Amino acid sequence: MPEPLRRFRPPAHRSLLTPITAVLALLCVAILAACSGPPTDGEIEAVAQELRDRAQKEHGALELVRSLTYEVGPRLAGSPGDAAGVAWAARTLKELGFENVRAERVAVPHWVRGEEWGAIVAPFPQPLHLTALGGSVGTPDGGLEAEVVGAASLDALAALPEEAVRGKIVFVHQRMERKREGAGYGAAVPVRYATANLAAKKGAVGALIRSVGTGPHRFPHTGSMRYDEDVPRIPIAALAHPDADALEHQLARGQEVRVRYFLGAHYLDDSISANVIGEIPGSEIPEEIVLLGAHLDSWDLGTGAIDDGVGCAIVLEAARLAGALRPRRTLRVVLFANEEFGLSGARTYAEAHAGELDRHILAFESDLGADRVWRFAARVDPNAVERLEPVANLLAPLGIEWQGNTGRGGPDLSPLRQARVPMADLTQSASTYFDYHHTADDTVDKIDPEALSQNVAAYATLAYYAAQVEEGFGRAEAVEEGEGRRR
Ligand SMILES: [Zn+2]
Repeated sequence: MPEPLRRFRPPAHRSLLTPITAVLALLCVAILAACSGPPTDGEIEAVAQELRDRAQKEHGALELVRSLTYEVGPRLAGSPGDAAGVAWAARTLKELGFENVRAERVAVPHWVRGEEWGAIVAPFPQPLHLTALGGSVGTPDGGLEAEVVGAASLDALAALPEEAVRGKIVFVHQRMERKREGAGYGAAVPVRYATANLAAKKGAVGALIRSVGTGPHRFPHTGSMRYDEDVPRIPIAALAHPDADALEHQLARGQEVRVRYFLGAHYLDDSISANVIGEIPGSEIPEEIVLLGAHLDSWDLGTGAIDDGVGCAIVLEAARLAGALRPRRTLRVVLFANEEFGLSGARTYAEAHAGELDRHILAFESDLGADRVWRFAARVDPNAVERLEPVANLLAPLGIEWQGNTGRGGPDLSPLRQARVPMADLTQSASTYFDYHHTADDTVDKIDPEALSQNVAAYATLAYYAAQVEEGFGRAEAVEEGEGRRR
Protein backbone atom coordinates (compact mmCIF):
# COMPACT_ATOMS: atom_id res chain seq x y z
CA MET A 1 0.00 0.00 0.00
CA PRO A 2 1.39 3.42 -0.83
CA GLU A 3 1.36 5.76 2.13
CA PRO A 4 -1.02 8.70 1.78
CA LEU A 5 0.35 11.89 0.35
CA ARG A 6 0.79 14.55 2.94
CA ARG A 7 2.43 17.90 3.32
CA PHE A 8 5.71 17.58 5.20
CA ARG A 9 5.71 19.26 8.57
CA PRO A 10 8.64 18.61 10.84
CA PRO A 11 7.30 17.41 14.19
CA ALA A 12 8.07 19.86 16.97
CA HIS A 13 10.74 17.64 18.46
CA ARG A 14 12.63 17.65 15.17
CA SER A 15 13.47 21.36 15.37
CA LEU A 16 16.84 22.31 16.80
CA LEU A 17 15.06 24.93 18.90
CA THR A 18 13.19 22.36 20.97
CA PRO A 19 15.52 19.38 21.22
CA ILE A 20 14.27 16.15 22.67
CA THR A 21 15.45 14.95 26.02
CA ALA A 22 18.06 12.66 24.56
CA VAL A 23 19.57 15.57 22.71
CA LEU A 24 19.58 17.64 25.88
CA ALA A 25 21.37 14.89 27.73
CA LEU A 26 23.98 14.61 25.03
CA LEU A 27 24.27 18.38 24.90
CA CYS A 28 25.01 18.42 28.64
CA VAL A 29 27.78 15.92 28.08
CA ALA A 30 29.15 18.09 25.29
CA ILE A 31 28.88 21.30 27.36
CA LEU A 32 30.48 19.70 30.40
CA ALA A 33 33.30 18.52 28.21
CA ALA A 34 33.66 22.02 26.77
CA CYS A 35 33.67 23.67 30.22
CA SER A 36 36.51 21.52 31.42
CA GLY A 37 38.82 22.38 28.50
CA PRO A 38 38.89 20.90 25.01
CA PRO A 39 37.08 17.56 24.79
CA THR A 40 39.31 14.54 24.99
CA ASP A 41 39.31 11.99 22.22
CA GLY A 42 37.50 9.60 24.54
CA GLU A 43 34.75 12.14 25.26
CA ILE A 44 34.27 12.91 21.57
CA GLU A 45 34.08 9.24 20.73
CA ALA A 46 31.59 8.52 23.52
CA VAL A 47 29.24 11.26 22.32
CA ALA A 48 29.71 10.23 18.67
CA GLN A 49 28.85 6.65 19.58
CA GLU A 50 25.61 7.67 21.26
CA LEU A 51 24.78 9.87 18.29
CA ARG A 52 25.44 6.98 15.91
CA ASP A 53 23.20 4.61 17.85
CA ARG A 54 20.38 7.14 18.18
CA ALA A 55 20.53 8.18 14.52
CA GLN A 56 19.89 4.60 13.44
CA LYS A 57 16.49 4.76 15.12
CA GLU A 58 15.48 8.07 13.49
CA HIS A 59 13.39 8.30 10.31
CA GLY A 60 13.47 12.03 9.65
CA ALA A 61 15.38 11.57 6.40
CA LEU A 62 12.59 9.45 4.96
CA GLU A 63 10.08 12.22 5.71
CA LEU A 64 12.35 14.73 4.01
CA VAL A 65 12.80 12.77 0.78
CA ARG A 66 9.07 12.03 0.68
CA SER A 67 8.38 15.73 1.07
CA LEU A 68 10.79 16.68 -1.72
CA THR A 69 9.62 14.06 -4.18
CA TYR A 70 5.86 14.22 -3.51
CA GLU A 71 5.58 17.99 -3.12
CA VAL A 72 8.17 19.10 -5.71
CA GLY A 73 8.91 16.11 -7.94
CA PRO A 74 11.35 16.29 -10.88
CA ARG A 75 13.90 19.13 -10.68
CA LEU A 76 15.76 19.42 -13.98
CA ALA A 77 17.98 22.52 -14.14
CA GLY A 78 16.07 25.58 -15.30
CA SER A 79 12.63 23.92 -15.05
CA PRO A 80 9.77 25.12 -12.83
CA GLY A 81 10.53 22.07 -10.63
CA ASP A 82 14.09 23.31 -10.16
CA ALA A 83 12.83 26.64 -8.83
CA ALA A 84 10.32 24.84 -6.60
CA GLY A 85 13.16 22.66 -5.30
CA VAL A 86 15.22 25.70 -4.36
CA ALA A 87 12.25 27.18 -2.47
CA TRP A 88 11.64 23.83 -0.75
CA ALA A 89 15.27 23.57 0.33
CA ALA A 90 15.44 27.09 1.78
CA ARG A 91 12.15 26.60 3.62
CA THR A 92 13.16 23.16 4.92
CA LEU A 93 16.59 24.28 6.15
CA LYS A 94 14.89 27.04 8.14
CA GLU A 95 12.23 24.70 9.50
CA LEU A 96 14.94 22.31 10.66
CA GLY A 97 16.65 25.11 12.59
CA PHE A 98 19.65 25.80 10.35
CA GLU A 99 21.09 29.32 10.35
CA ASN A 100 22.55 31.55 7.61
CA VAL A 101 20.17 29.93 5.13
CA ARG A 102 20.65 31.36 1.67
CA ALA A 103 20.22 30.57 -2.02
CA GLU A 104 23.40 31.49 -3.91
CA ARG A 105 22.68 32.15 -7.60
CA VAL A 106 23.94 29.68 -10.18
CA ALA A 107 23.59 30.12 -13.94
CA VAL A 108 22.31 26.88 -15.50
CA PRO A 109 21.54 25.66 -19.01
CA HIS A 110 17.88 25.00 -19.72
CA TRP A 111 17.29 21.96 -21.88
CA VAL A 112 13.77 20.65 -22.45
CA ARG A 113 12.95 17.08 -23.42
CA GLY A 114 9.63 17.60 -25.16
CA GLU A 115 7.65 14.77 -26.72
CA GLU A 116 9.50 11.65 -27.91
CA TRP A 117 8.69 8.31 -29.53
CA GLY A 118 10.28 5.65 -31.66
CA ALA A 119 9.62 2.38 -33.51
CA ILE A 120 11.26 -0.30 -35.57
CA VAL A 121 9.52 0.09 -38.94
CA ALA A 122 11.17 -2.86 -40.75
CA PRO A 123 11.59 -5.79 -40.99
CA PHE A 124 9.41 -6.58 -37.93
CA PRO A 125 7.61 -3.36 -36.89
CA GLN A 126 7.12 -2.62 -33.17
CA PRO A 127 7.31 0.40 -30.85
CA LEU A 128 10.52 1.26 -28.97
CA HIS A 129 10.77 2.72 -25.48
CA LEU A 130 13.43 5.38 -25.76
CA THR A 131 14.40 8.73 -24.30
CA ALA A 132 16.67 11.54 -25.46
CA LEU A 133 20.02 11.91 -23.77
CA GLY A 134 20.28 15.24 -21.96
CA GLY A 135 21.61 17.87 -24.33
CA SER A 136 20.56 16.08 -27.52
CA VAL A 137 19.16 18.10 -30.39
CA GLY A 138 15.70 17.17 -31.61
CA THR A 139 14.85 15.32 -34.81
CA PRO A 140 13.08 16.97 -37.74
CA ASP A 141 9.30 17.33 -37.41
CA GLY A 142 7.68 13.98 -38.10
CA GLY A 143 10.78 12.12 -36.94
CA LEU A 144 13.93 10.71 -38.47
CA GLU A 145 13.87 7.42 -40.37
CA ALA A 146 16.91 5.52 -41.62
CA GLU A 147 18.56 2.13 -41.80
CA VAL A 148 20.29 1.05 -38.57
CA VAL A 149 23.89 -0.08 -38.28
CA GLY A 150 24.77 -1.84 -35.02
CA ALA A 151 28.02 -1.81 -33.04
CA ALA A 152 28.67 -3.88 -29.91
CA SER A 153 30.92 -1.23 -28.36
CA LEU A 154 32.47 2.17 -28.97
CA ASP A 155 35.59 0.40 -30.24
CA ALA A 156 33.46 -1.56 -32.71
CA LEU A 157 31.89 1.71 -33.89
CA ALA A 158 35.33 3.28 -34.25
CA ALA A 159 36.38 0.33 -36.42
CA LEU A 160 33.41 0.65 -38.83
CA PRO A 161 34.29 2.17 -42.22
CA GLU A 162 32.52 5.41 -43.15
CA GLU A 163 30.64 3.67 -46.01
CA ALA A 164 28.97 1.41 -43.45
CA VAL A 165 27.76 4.37 -41.39
CA ARG A 166 27.00 7.25 -43.77
CA GLY A 167 23.31 8.20 -43.88
CA LYS A 168 22.39 5.64 -41.19
CA ILE A 169 21.32 5.55 -37.56
CA VAL A 170 24.14 4.12 -35.45
CA PHE A 171 23.10 1.82 -32.60
CA VAL A 172 25.71 1.02 -29.90
CA HIS A 173 24.56 -1.84 -27.69
CA GLN A 174 27.46 -2.03 -25.23
CA ARG A 175 26.37 -3.48 -21.87
CA MET A 176 26.95 -2.10 -18.40
CA GLU A 177 28.12 -4.49 -15.67
CA ARG A 178 26.42 -4.60 -12.27
CA LYS A 179 28.97 -4.01 -9.49
CA ARG A 180 28.70 -3.05 -5.83
CA GLU A 181 31.12 -0.17 -6.16
CA GLY A 182 29.36 1.15 -9.26
CA ALA A 183 32.45 0.75 -11.43
CA GLY A 184 30.33 -0.63 -14.27
CA TYR A 185 28.89 2.85 -14.74
CA GLY A 186 32.28 4.50 -15.18
CA ALA A 187 33.17 1.89 -17.77
CA ALA A 188 29.91 2.26 -19.73
CA VAL A 189 29.23 6.00 -19.49
CA PRO A 190 31.63 6.94 -22.33
CA VAL A 191 29.01 5.38 -24.64
CA ARG A 192 26.66 8.18 -23.60
CA TYR A 193 29.23 10.90 -24.21
CA ALA A 194 31.01 9.66 -27.30
CA THR A 195 28.51 7.83 -29.50
CA ALA A 196 26.86 10.84 -31.20
CA ASN A 197 30.21 12.52 -31.93
CA LEU A 198 31.89 9.37 -33.23
CA ALA A 199 28.87 8.42 -35.35
CA ALA A 200 28.45 11.94 -36.77
CA LYS A 201 32.12 12.06 -37.81
CA LYS A 202 31.45 9.01 -39.96
CA GLY A 203 28.34 10.58 -41.51
CA ALA A 204 25.56 9.04 -39.41
CA VAL A 205 22.25 10.96 -39.29
CA GLY A 206 21.14 9.71 -35.87
CA ALA A 207 22.31 7.64 -32.91
CA LEU A 208 20.81 5.21 -30.41
CA ILE A 209 22.43 3.48 -27.45
CA ARG A 210 21.51 0.71 -25.07
CA SER A 211 20.71 2.52 -21.80
CA VAL A 212 23.68 3.03 -19.52
CA GLY A 213 22.09 1.29 -16.54
CA THR A 214 21.32 -2.15 -15.17
CA GLY A 215 17.50 -2.20 -14.91
CA PRO A 216 15.63 -4.92 -16.80
CA HIS A 217 12.44 -2.89 -17.17
CA ARG A 218 11.23 -0.79 -20.08
CA PHE A 219 12.50 2.44 -18.53
CA PRO A 220 15.20 4.03 -20.68
CA HIS A 221 18.01 5.84 -18.80
CA THR A 222 18.76 9.42 -19.70
CA GLY A 223 21.91 11.31 -18.65
CA SER A 224 24.03 14.05 -20.08
CA MET A 225 25.96 14.05 -23.36
CA ARG A 226 27.96 16.79 -25.05
CA TYR A 227 28.61 17.57 -28.70
CA ASP A 228 32.16 18.21 -29.85
CA GLU A 229 32.63 21.62 -31.47
CA ASP A 230 33.59 20.43 -34.90
CA VAL A 231 31.03 17.70 -35.68
CA PRO A 232 27.42 17.82 -36.91
CA ARG A 233 24.90 17.52 -34.08
CA ILE A 234 22.79 14.39 -34.54
CA PRO A 235 19.87 13.42 -32.27
CA ILE A 236 20.69 10.68 -29.77
CA ALA A 237 18.41 8.58 -27.57
CA ALA A 238 18.79 5.64 -25.18
CA LEU A 239 16.67 2.49 -25.54
CA ALA A 240 15.31 0.57 -22.56
CA HIS A 241 17.14 -2.75 -22.29
CA PRO A 242 14.31 -4.99 -23.63
CA ASP A 243 13.99 -2.62 -26.58
CA ALA A 244 17.75 -2.63 -27.16
CA ASP A 245 17.55 -6.43 -27.10
CA ALA A 246 14.78 -6.38 -29.73
CA LEU A 247 16.75 -4.11 -32.04
CA GLU A 248 19.94 -6.11 -31.57
CA HIS A 249 18.12 -9.38 -32.36
CA GLN A 250 16.43 -7.97 -35.46
CA LEU A 251 19.84 -6.77 -36.71
CA ALA A 252 21.23 -10.26 -36.10
CA ARG A 253 18.65 -11.69 -38.51
CA GLY A 254 20.72 -10.21 -41.35
CA GLN A 255 17.94 -8.16 -42.99
CA GLU A 256 17.87 -4.38 -43.37
CA VAL A 257 16.49 -2.89 -40.15
CA ARG A 258 14.88 0.57 -40.25
CA VAL A 259 13.98 2.73 -37.24
CA ARG A 260 11.94 5.91 -37.05
CA TYR A 261 12.15 8.15 -33.98
CA PHE A 262 11.10 11.58 -32.95
CA LEU A 263 12.77 13.73 -30.28
CA GLY A 264 11.26 17.10 -29.40
CA ALA A 265 14.36 18.05 -27.38
CA HIS A 266 15.55 21.65 -27.53
CA TYR A 267 17.30 24.37 -25.56
CA LEU A 268 15.69 27.46 -24.06
CA ASP A 269 17.64 30.49 -22.82
CA ASP A 270 19.99 29.87 -19.88
CA SER A 271 18.29 30.16 -16.53
CA ILE A 272 19.11 30.90 -12.90
CA SER A 273 19.05 28.29 -10.16
CA ALA A 274 20.79 28.25 -6.78
CA ASN A 275 23.02 26.37 -4.41
CA VAL A 276 20.98 26.29 -1.22
CA ILE A 277 23.11 26.50 1.90
CA GLY A 278 22.40 26.31 5.62
CA GLU A 279 24.69 26.15 8.62
CA ILE A 280 24.89 25.19 12.22
CA PRO A 281 27.56 27.61 13.40
CA GLY A 282 30.42 26.12 15.36
CA SER A 283 30.43 26.75 19.11
CA GLU A 284 34.17 27.45 19.32
CA ILE A 285 35.77 27.80 15.87
CA PRO A 286 32.86 28.77 13.62
CA GLU A 287 35.20 29.93 10.83
CA GLU A 288 36.23 26.31 10.24
CA ILE A 289 33.78 24.38 8.08
CA VAL A 290 32.73 20.76 7.73
CA LEU A 291 30.81 20.53 4.45
CA LEU A 292 28.06 17.98 3.80
CA GLY A 293 26.86 18.04 0.20
CA ALA A 294 24.27 16.53 -2.12
CA HIS A 295 22.61 17.78 -5.28
CA LEU A 296 19.15 19.25 -5.36
CA ASP A 297 18.52 18.94 -9.10
CA SER A 298 17.44 15.73 -10.81
CA TRP A 299 16.63 14.40 -14.23
CA ASP A 300 13.11 14.98 -15.45
CA LEU A 301 11.82 11.42 -15.95
CA GLY A 302 11.48 10.25 -12.33
CA THR A 303 11.07 12.29 -9.18
CA GLY A 304 14.78 12.35 -8.32
CA ALA A 305 14.34 10.22 -5.21
CA ILE A 306 17.48 8.08 -5.16
CA ASP A 307 19.36 10.58 -7.39
CA ASP A 308 19.67 12.67 -5.39
CA GLY A 309 16.71 13.65 -3.22
CA VAL A 310 17.76 11.02 -0.74
CA GLY A 311 21.29 12.45 -0.63
CA CYS A 312 19.79 15.82 0.32
CA ALA A 313 17.72 14.12 3.01
CA ILE A 314 20.74 12.22 4.39
CA VAL A 315 22.95 15.29 4.76
CA LEU A 316 20.12 17.47 6.12
CA GLU A 317 19.18 14.94 8.76
CA ALA A 318 22.77 14.01 9.61
CA ALA A 319 23.76 17.67 10.04
CA ARG A 320 20.63 18.36 12.08
CA LEU A 321 21.36 15.48 14.46
CA ALA A 322 25.08 16.24 14.77
CA GLY A 323 24.42 19.99 14.97
CA ALA A 324 22.06 19.58 17.91
CA LEU A 325 25.19 18.74 19.92
CA ARG A 326 26.71 22.12 18.94
CA PRO A 327 30.16 20.88 17.90
CA ARG A 328 33.14 23.24 17.82
CA ARG A 329 33.22 23.81 14.04
CA THR A 330 30.49 24.91 11.66
CA LEU A 331 28.45 22.25 9.89
CA ARG A 332 27.54 23.54 6.44
CA VAL A 333 25.00 21.77 4.25
CA VAL A 334 25.29 22.60 0.56
CA LEU A 335 22.49 21.41 -1.73
CA PHE A 336 24.12 21.91 -5.11
CA ALA A 337 22.36 23.15 -8.25
CA ASN A 338 22.58 21.30 -11.53
CA GLU A 339 24.95 18.42 -10.92
CA GLU A 340 23.33 16.36 -13.64
CA PHE A 341 23.79 18.64 -16.59
CA GLY A 342 27.22 20.13 -16.15
CA LEU A 343 28.11 20.53 -12.44
CA SER A 344 27.16 24.23 -12.57
CA GLY A 345 26.51 24.44 -8.85
CA ALA A 346 29.76 22.73 -7.87
CA ARG A 347 31.83 25.08 -10.00
CA THR A 348 29.98 28.18 -8.82
CA TYR A 349 30.42 27.16 -5.17
CA ALA A 350 34.17 26.65 -5.61
CA GLU A 351 34.51 30.10 -7.23
CA ALA A 352 32.26 31.94 -4.79
CA HIS A 353 33.96 30.39 -1.76
CA ALA A 354 37.54 30.30 -3.07
CA GLY A 355 38.69 32.56 -0.23
CA GLU A 356 37.60 30.15 2.48
CA LEU A 357 38.40 26.76 0.94
CA ASP A 358 41.51 26.55 3.13
CA ARG A 359 39.13 26.62 6.11
CA HIS A 360 37.11 23.66 4.81
CA ILE A 361 38.28 21.03 7.28
CA LEU A 362 36.51 18.09 5.66
CA ALA A 363 33.97 17.74 2.84
CA PHE A 364 31.84 14.73 1.98
CA GLU A 365 28.75 14.19 -0.12
CA SER A 366 25.98 11.68 -0.71
CA ASP A 367 25.19 10.94 -4.36
CA LEU A 368 24.96 7.19 -4.82
CA GLY A 369 21.49 6.40 -3.50
CA ALA A 370 20.72 5.15 -0.02
CA ASP A 371 21.56 1.49 0.04
CA ARG A 372 23.77 0.65 3.01
CA VAL A 373 27.12 2.41 3.28
CA TRP A 374 29.85 -0.24 3.11
CA ARG A 375 33.04 1.78 2.64
CA PHE A 376 34.72 4.71 4.39
CA ALA A 377 37.77 6.28 2.79
CA ALA A 378 39.59 9.56 3.08
CA ARG A 379 41.40 11.90 0.77
CA VAL A 380 43.35 13.97 3.30
CA ASP A 381 46.96 14.84 4.10
CA PRO A 382 48.72 11.46 4.27
CA ASN A 383 50.14 12.50 7.64
CA ALA A 384 46.64 13.11 8.99
CA VAL A 385 44.96 9.87 7.89
CA GLU A 386 45.38 8.25 11.27
CA ARG A 387 43.29 11.01 12.84
CA LEU A 388 40.30 9.43 11.10
CA GLU A 389 40.92 5.98 12.54
CA PRO A 390 38.80 6.60 15.67
CA VAL A 391 35.82 7.48 13.49
CA ALA A 392 36.54 4.45 11.29
CA ASN A 393 36.23 2.35 14.45
CA LEU A 394 32.94 4.07 15.27
CA LEU A 395 31.63 3.27 11.78
CA ALA A 396 32.75 -0.36 11.77
CA PRO A 397 29.72 -1.65 13.75
CA LEU A 398 27.52 -0.22 10.96
CA GLY A 399 29.19 -2.67 8.59
CA ILE A 400 31.50 -0.05 7.08
CA GLU A 401 35.05 -0.96 6.03
CA TRP A 402 37.85 1.56 6.49
CA GLN A 403 39.92 1.86 3.33
CA GLY A 404 42.42 4.52 4.40
CA ASN A 405 43.49 7.35 2.16
CA THR A 406 41.97 5.88 -1.02
CA GLY A 407 39.00 8.26 -1.25
CA ARG A 408 38.03 10.54 -4.07
CA GLY A 409 35.03 12.68 -3.10
CA GLY A 410 31.91 12.80 -5.25
CA PRO A 411 31.15 14.77 -8.42
CA ASP A 412 30.01 17.95 -6.66
CA LEU A 413 33.27 18.01 -4.72
CA SER A 414 35.41 17.67 -7.85
CA PRO A 415 36.17 21.43 -8.12
CA LEU A 416 37.20 21.38 -4.43
CA ARG A 417 39.62 18.53 -5.16
CA GLN A 418 41.62 20.98 -7.26
CA ALA A 419 41.88 23.20 -4.16
CA ARG A 420 43.10 20.21 -2.12
CA VAL A 421 40.17 20.34 0.30
CA PRO A 422 40.31 17.25 2.55
CA MET A 423 37.49 14.86 1.68
CA ALA A 424 35.91 11.61 2.73
CA ASP A 425 33.77 9.02 1.01
CA LEU A 426 30.93 7.16 2.70
CA THR A 427 30.15 4.88 -0.22
CA GLN A 428 26.76 3.23 -0.57
CA SER A 429 26.34 -0.16 -2.24
CA ALA A 430 25.52 0.61 -5.87
CA SER A 431 24.34 -2.91 -6.75
CA THR A 432 20.79 -1.80 -7.57
CA TYR A 433 21.30 1.96 -7.88
CA PHE A 434 21.72 1.88 -11.65
CA ASP A 435 18.46 -0.06 -12.06
CA TYR A 436 16.61 3.16 -11.26
CA HIS A 437 18.77 6.24 -11.52
CA HIS A 438 18.03 8.60 -14.43
CA THR A 439 14.82 6.69 -15.25
CA ALA A 440 11.10 7.27 -14.72
CA ASP A 441 11.41 4.57 -12.05
CA ASP A 442 13.53 6.74 -9.73
CA THR A 443 10.83 7.21 -7.14
CA VAL A 444 10.77 7.26 -3.36
CA ASP A 445 9.31 3.76 -2.90
CA LYS A 446 12.73 2.36 -3.95
CA ILE A 447 14.30 3.56 -0.69
CA ASP A 448 14.76 1.06 2.15
CA PRO A 449 14.03 2.96 5.40
CA GLU A 450 16.44 0.84 7.46
CA ALA A 451 19.30 1.33 5.03
CA LEU A 452 18.52 5.04 4.96
CA SER A 453 18.81 5.26 8.75
CA GLN A 454 22.18 3.49 8.55
CA ASN A 455 23.28 6.18 6.08
CA VAL A 456 22.16 8.97 8.38
CA ALA A 457 23.97 7.36 11.31
CA ALA A 458 27.20 7.14 9.31
CA TYR A 459 27.03 10.69 7.99
CA ALA A 460 26.05 12.15 11.36
CA THR A 461 28.88 10.33 13.13
CA LEU A 462 31.49 11.57 10.67
CA ALA A 463 30.05 15.10 10.68
CA TYR A 464 30.13 15.33 14.45
CA TYR A 465 33.58 13.84 14.76
CA ALA A 466 35.13 16.10 12.11
CA ALA A 467 33.50 19.18 13.61
CA GLN A 468 34.60 18.34 17.12
CA VAL A 469 38.03 16.71 16.91
CA GLU A 470 40.94 18.85 18.05
CA GLU A 471 43.05 18.90 14.88
CA GLY A 472 41.90 18.96 11.25
CA PHE A 473 43.13 16.80 8.40
CA GLY A 474 45.67 19.04 6.65
CA ARG A 475 45.35 19.47 2.87
CA ALA A 476 44.78 16.61 0.46
CA GLU A 477 47.40 15.77 -2.12
CA ALA A 478 47.27 17.58 -5.46
CA VAL A 479 45.04 16.17 -8.19
CA GLU A 480 46.90 13.94 -10.62
CA GLU A 481 46.71 14.36 -14.37
CA GLY A 482 43.51 12.89 -15.83
CA GLU A 483 41.99 12.46 -12.38
CA GLY A 484 39.63 15.39 -12.75
CA ARG A 485 37.58 13.72 -15.46
CA ARG A 486 33.94 12.97 -14.89
CA ARG A 487 33.32 9.56 -13.40
ZN1 LIG B 1 23.37 12.28 -8.68
